Amino acid sequence: MSTTADQLREYLVGLPVVSVHEHHREDDAYRDLTLEGLFLRSYVGWAYPGHQHIADREGFLDHVRFNSYFVWLQKGLQHVYGCPTITPQNWDAVSEQITTAHNASPTWHIDLMPRYGLYRRAIQDSFWNVGSDVGHPQFFSPTFRINAFVMCHHPGMADHNGTSLARFDLPWSSFTEFLHAMKAIIQRARAEGAVALKSALAYDRDLAFGPAKYDDAARAFGKRPDEVDTATQRAYQNFMFHTCCEIAAELKLPFQNHTGLGLIGGSNPMNLEPAIRRHAETTFVLFHGGYPWVHEIAGLAHNYPNVLPDLTWLPLISPTAAVGAIHEWVETAQTARGICWGGDAFSGEESVGAALALKHVLATALARKVDEGYFGMEDAETLARMICSENAERVYGLASPR
Ligand SMILES: [Zn+2]
Repeated sequence: MSTTADQLREYLVGLPVVSVHEHHREDDAYRDLTLEGLFLRSYVGWAYPGHQHIADREGFLDHVRFNSYFVWLQKGLQHVYGCPTITPQNWDAVSEQITTAHNASPTWHIDLMPRYGLYRRAIQDSFWNVGSDVGHPQFFSPTFRINAFVMCHHPGMADHNGTSLARFDLPWSSFTEFLHAMKAIIQRARAEGAVALKSALAYDRDLAFGPAKYDDAARAFGKRPDEVDTATQRAYQNFMFHTCCEIAAELKLPFQNHTGLGLIGGSNPMNLEPAIRRHAETTFVLFHGGYPWVHEIAGLAHNYPNVLPDLTWLPLISPTAAVGAIHEWVETAQTARGICWGGDAFSGEESVGAALALKHVLATALARKVDEGYFGMEDAETLARMICSENAERVYGLASPR
């Protein structure tokens, strides 16, 4: 007799997904891709010391075997290529399958996502080329990364990714004109297809964006970092973050915020509470379940209608935490209609693994809700469709062919 989880798994297998966050590179980046290259450009690389080169394959597999990033990337590879559990002995054969597939078609990295992961559409965060859809507008809608605008008060500065404002035509002689120009750039990005703003500032600084006045920020504007003290730089960042919140509200763009992990000392999503309260018209999407602070995300979504709790990356970080988040957010958020998900991957194979992880955690969490009598099977299936694709399509206004 099949269990509720089996029934839900069967239902979920056929559901399309829409990802609200990916980091795919341009087609050229995948030529000659090897298994080692795939590991090193995935989150698995983060778990491996040195992570420039895998000299000792046995040692590498031994090191990462039980890490969730590895588990889901391997499941993705098995799903796409039908390969066995990876061992030092079959490594080269698996690697050759990957290289052959990518070299046979430069768009394989995208093509495999709908084919094996049932991806219908995705939001792309090209932090190295802000606002780009990496040449695939039919599949990717860009999000607009605001880090450099918040962190850089001088054209010679860069954010944690090395992104500067040099590529934008900005008037560095007047702060007022600079702010107008920034808004015009975001307006243009929206007209060209951008569907959200994105902050990854949790990798640059803490998320406690205190109140800041124009005059305080203007003292840092145009100055080199060695010409202004830390407090003035911080005031500039705070002012620019609040300006981004205002632009997001005015242009009706959901504001995606990395919360949790990153610079973990300051990434607790509760740090954002004053900004969330102050900018009631701004939709704050709180990414990654705020991991490890998934309860804090639940509390914020309980209190504030402008908070959308978001599962992006969380099933890859910890399926256990993702199951808990789904339970708690469905119960506490003012509406489950805002809960979205993204794979947050750098390759098609990792995206496929991320979609498998999402469906695994949904089946596990929703089955328990049904078995406990919290709701019935029909509600579980409705929620599964919402979280896999329908919420993302509505929140970001994504039109997808059906
Ligand atoms: Zn990301």
